[in-house]
Amino acid sequence: MSAPFNFSAGPAMLPKAVLQKAKEELTSWRGSGVSVMEISHRDPAFMQMAYKAEQDLRDLMKIPDNYQVLFMHGGGRGQFTAVAQNLAGPNDTVDYLNGGIWSDFAIREARKYVAKVNIIGSAIETDQGLAYPPQSEWQLSEDAAYVHYCPNETIGGLALHTIPEVSAPLVVDMSSNILSEPLAVEKFGVIYAGAQKNIGPSGFSIAIVRDDLLGRAQGTTSTIMDYTVQAKERSMYNTPNTWAWYLSGLVFEWIKELGGVTAMAERNNRKAKLLYDYIDNSAFYSNPIHPDFRSKMNVPFLLADAQLDGEFLRLAESEGLVGLKGHRWVGGMRASIYNAMPLEGVEALVSFMRDFEQKHT
Ligand code: PMP
Repeated sequence: MSAPFNFSAGPAMLPKAVLQKAKEELTSWRGSGVSVMEISHRDPAFMQMAYKAEQDLRDLMKIPDNYQVLFMHGGGRGQFTAVAQNLAGPNDTVDYLNGGIWSDFAIREARKYVAKVNIIGSAIETDQGLAYPPQSEWQLSEDAAYVHYCPNETIGGLALHTIPEVSAPLVVDMSSNILSEPLAVEKFGVIYAGAQKNIGPSGFSIAIVRDDLLGRAQGTTSTIMDYTVQAKERSMYNTPNTWAWYLSGLVFEWIKELGGVTAMAERNNRKAKLLYDYIDNSAFYSNPIHPDFRSKMNVPFLLADAQLDGEFLRLAESEGLVGLKGHRWVGGMRASIYNAMPLEGVEALVSFMRDFEQKHT
């Protein structure tokens, strides 16, 4: 059987070319006779690679010079803590938009460190599906230390495609959509992402922090999660995850070779359109999200008869379409179609869905 198409939500598929390169270099990195995992992070060759990866990310995202790019530990959830501890004092107010499960986790974490966590708005059911309330209805605080939102809810598949206009620093959890399209970085105070969807291995994370937000960390902030310390030490305060940094660097090179985030956006739009168009034109499948708020990365869908879910998943897997089971809290199916998923993967999925539908109607 040819290699499967992996629709896992994360850890998610990595570009085949990246895995191939990593395989070739695994035991002898750059002809050194040792693995990149076996050398010091202070080794000049490692540092050169690491800072080239940073520069590649800066180039890809057009990150202005007044932002620090931090390579950190603890994945996406580590940043839930880091954001609250680094940007707000214990007695401050912070604003959170609640779009679903990941926003909710971020909110719960912030409550541990900040006195007032104000929910400015929550996802709403409309007759066209789940949606965000318009920004005119958000209950923004006057004195928020920051406003946080998650533009791509990985589990629910709800996305906010417009950048909120707020006066407080805007903080964004881009764990599942970073690098998927061009972004106006200058509109944000902090952009962060766990790596395991569009960047690299899990446990690693990236935080892009505007300079004026440094120097605010609460005194109890763990040193490795302190943005100011990590900025000063260029993300090498302690031993970074060298393997993850290396692999992420390969992914950045791969995106550059394919034409950067504009090319990614074109690919991603085509993939998402193909899948949503098929779902919308079928009476057998449905997607629960309002058309204006649909994720281009995570496409949840339900079968008309949930009793067929098991058979759908079994047959899909036997045809090389893996990782399609919906999150255990919401059920149904979910196709995660991040940057690394080629158009052929979505074509194969749609073709399988069509055959399955014909068999059962
Ligand atoms: N935020 C979002 C949007 C996510 O999708 C995830 C993980 N799926 C997280 C945060 C948490 O990431 P991690 O498991 O790396 O802590």
